[in-house]
Amino acid sequence: MNVKISTLVESLTPSGIRAFFDLVLTMDDVISLGVGEPDFKTPWHISRYAIQKIEDGFTTYVSNSGLLELRQEIAKYLKNTYQLHYVPEDEVLITVGVSEGVDLALRALTNPGDEFLIHEPCYVSYKPTILLAGGSCRVIRTVMDNGFKLTPEMIESACGPKTKGLIFNYPCNPTGTTYSKDELEKLAKMIEKKKLFLISDEIYHQLSYDQEHISIASFPGMQDRVLLLNGFSKGYAMTGWRIGYACGPKPLIAAMTKIHQYTMLCAPIMGQFAAMEALRHGEDAVTAMREEYKKRRNFIVKRLNDIGFSCHKPGGAFYVFPEIPKAFQSSVQFANELLKEERVAVVPGSAFSNGDKHIRISYASSMEKLQEAVKRIEHFIKNHSLVTRRDRQC
Ligand code: PLP
Repeated sequence: MNVKISTLVESLTPSGIRAFFDLVLTMDDVISLGVGEPDFKTPWHISRYAIQKIEDGFTTYVSNSGLLELRQEIAKYLKNTYQLHYVPEDEVLITVGVSEGVDLALRALTNPGDEFLIHEPCYVSYKPTILLAGGSCRVIRTVMDNGFKLTPEMIESACGPKTKGLIFNYPCNPTGTTYSKDELEKLAKMIEKKKLFLISDEIYHQLSYDQEHISIASFPGMQDRVLLLNGFSKGYAMTGWRIGYACGPKPLIAAMTKIHQYTMLCAPIMGQFAAMEALRHGEDAVTAMREEYKKRRNFIVKRLNDIGFSCHKPGGAFYVFPEIPKAFQSSVQFANELLKEERVAVVPGSAFSNGDKHIRISYASSMEKLQEAVKRIEHFIKNHSLVTRRDRQC
């Protein structure tokens, strides 16, 4: 039978990251600095707690909104950490990762023709998710010269008559960019001035290395116009448990819950117990992982700059997004040749739209692997510049 796929879905391009890493899987001895997930295992006390719950028979559906006890823990955590006040009963929804939170939010907010701003380079799912929700997307391009920062002026000039909201992510995937209190305050004022609704993806909030993370929802007047998305995948090394949460105005959470109950029913109960344990007793493990990431960040930024990249020092997440040396025409060429010649996998910046002069390197990999990978990259660059020089002489 000739299955006719929706034209909207047909028009989406598959993720550039996936295509590249399908190729990596077919090769041996590759050091992969590509994946966006912690190399640490979920702290054992978290797994053990969830295993105990399974043994006790907690293997069922739960409330669509998620376990109330978990929502209460989340509200307590956000109050203690960011002085945010959310009512667990109707302002917090447990989602299947932040991924589901982004999707639910956009579907709940979007009428045909509504426009959302995104800052690129950004996480690959925002644009397709906006389009799938029936909206349209306006891109704000951020650049390395100012550390890939979004500014109030950029927001002001990007806003058009149909602009309804902005998706904001910090610390940012793929650039690692994060913001000071002063910068966030100015962004918040502009968001208020332009009457935008903000979807704030703060999934890397625990991985901020040089300053405390501040949630943009915590500025005066913002809680009513922000949906805060957060989760357990990155900070607690819990990608496979698939637990995220969305906190925001009651009518939006109710609308998102309506979609969630028909499409997902609920997030997995085992993951919800694990998340509860993470919030109650996981802080020491998060601190230890953050310290290790910070060491790796310092190492990789220095080495990349030493060997011919131009690499800004990101304040958070676990990515660097350096500009590749001028001798290379594109990030895809760079990534393909590096993979073939030196067996190191990095993500071509083109996977993040306007990043074609860049590559994304994830330092969620052991220090030994990072050291070996940088050695191979250095060898690759040296070989390549020799070839280029010889070509020029011919
Ligand atoms: N948001 C950002 C910025 C991400 O980088 C990722 C994963 O890489 C996600 C959301 C998805 O996270 P989750 O595992 O909670 O669905």
